[in-house]
Amino acid sequence: MDYLPIFMNLRDRPCLVVGGGGVAARKVDLLLKAGARVMVVAPDLCPALRELHAEARIIHHQARFREVNLDGCVLVIAATSDRQVNEHISALCQARALPVNAVDQPELCSFIMPAIIDRSPVLIAVSTGGSSPVLARLLRGRLESLIPAAYGRLAALAASFREQVQQLIPAAQRRSFWEKILQGPIAEMVLSGREAAAQTAVEAALRQGKADTATGAGEVYLVGAGPGDPDLLTFRALRLMQQADVVVYDRLVAPAILELTRRDAERIYVGKLKNKPTLVQAEINRLLVTLANQGKRVVRLKGGDPFIFGRGGEELQALHREGITFQVVPGITAASGCAAYAGIPLTHREYAQSCVFSSGHHRNGGLNLNWRSLAQPAQTLAFYMGSEGIETICAKLVEHGLAPTMPAALVEQGTQPEQRVRVGTLANLPRQLEGLEIKSPSLLIVGQVVQLHQDLAWFQPCEQRPSDTVT
Ligand code: SAH
Repeated sequence: MDYLPIFMNLRDRPCLVVGGGGVAARKVDLLLKAGARVMVVAPDLCPALRELHAEARIIHHQARFREVNLDGCVLVIAATSDRQVNEHISALCQARALPVNAVDQPELCSFIMPAIIDRSPVLIAVSTGGSSPVLARLLRGRLESLIPAAYGRLAALAASFREQVQQLIPAAQRRSFWEKILQGPIAEMVLSGREAAAQTAVEAALRQGKADTATGAGEVYLVGAGPGDPDLLTFRALRLMQQADVVVYDRLVAPAILELTRRDAERIYVGKLKNKPTLVQAEINRLLVTLANQGKRVVRLKGGDPFIFGRGGEELQALHREGITFQVVPGITAASGCAAYAGIPLTHREYAQSCVFSSGHHRNGGLNLNWRSLAQPAQTLAFYMGSEGIETICAKLVEHGLAPTMPAALVEQGTQPEQRVRVGTLANLPRQLEGLEIKSPSLLIVGQVVQLHQDLAWFQPCEQRPSDTVT
């Protein structure tokens, strides 16, 4: 170990920054975050530092550095662009055993600054010992995505109960008590913003003297899995998927996404099966209630966003009736995912000021939609579940006033390696698709914005095909 990582208390302590440029400003920012009293010595200040000075958050000595500036300081940062000045400052500090850092000049430093992940009061500092700041930053990026933003609140909860735990839980069990609180359902309550419930649960755990039974019944996480590309999951979705005891999923959840659930979690498929009766919604609702009542943490995984044509609302109503705790994690809905990966902006100042997500699903052999409100100028339409009714949809839109030449695109298996985009017009797209096997799932997008696909398509599905555009 070339350096000893320590965390320094700088609250109300005088710190000196020499230099008035952007580099100095970044260091000043950090020192202020740590509560230091910052003095900047520099003939000129950059705009950011000038602003801090105007707000009286820093003291400014408008002058060149002199040794007397070091008096009374507990820490010094040399951030001038002049190497010799930095060398001089470093030598003076080291003679006084005053901690000094010269930006990007490790040989002049008695301490170096790490990359920081700030979840105050939790702090993570990453250092490569000066060998590669970029590597440290990359590592920081990874850790940032791994550690929930609300982690600090978890530490605050722990702090508020520390004394009581010390008094009520015997020393031998304390560690396991905290482990269960800090990574189980109580932690999840804090991370999803239900602090009051978390507090009640910790109190119950303290009364019972153990953390396992504190939350009693299980809970359900209704999670949007996005349109297929696993990279489009949210951090929260991934975290809950890795915690759940049971995963209840349906047909639209891509296998690659299912792979990301906890290895030992039970997986229950409730989608359509060939030659077998599909579970009706009421049965799925009942299943979720039963599992939660067994004390399990259940992830209900749905394609796209659970609140967009996902019947998520109905499932939650059933849970609500039974008094079961739940939370909802939004996902990227098919229209957003397909549009992005096909290079079709859903709105555009020149072409579309509104966008409608509509179901295109045939019910009882017909499509009962408000065609007049759909067939409006400067509007993009995204039809979910529309592949069977595509001919009717296109015909009805023309009948209600859209031009037969209005561009339309069918995006099959959007965001997935097999994605395919077929572009045509309301008049010719259905004909183009005749006799072809349309791969499920697919989404129909109608509107002037579809033209942009030609220039903006950036995603390269694994199988490159000749253009699918009909002219
Ligand atoms: N809750 C989902 C939609 C469920 S309805 C969401 O927010 O995306 C099912 C319909 O979604 C499918 O019939 C299809 O029209 C659309 N869909 C879902 N995933 C898709 C994908 N990867 N590519 C194209 N369409 C998709």
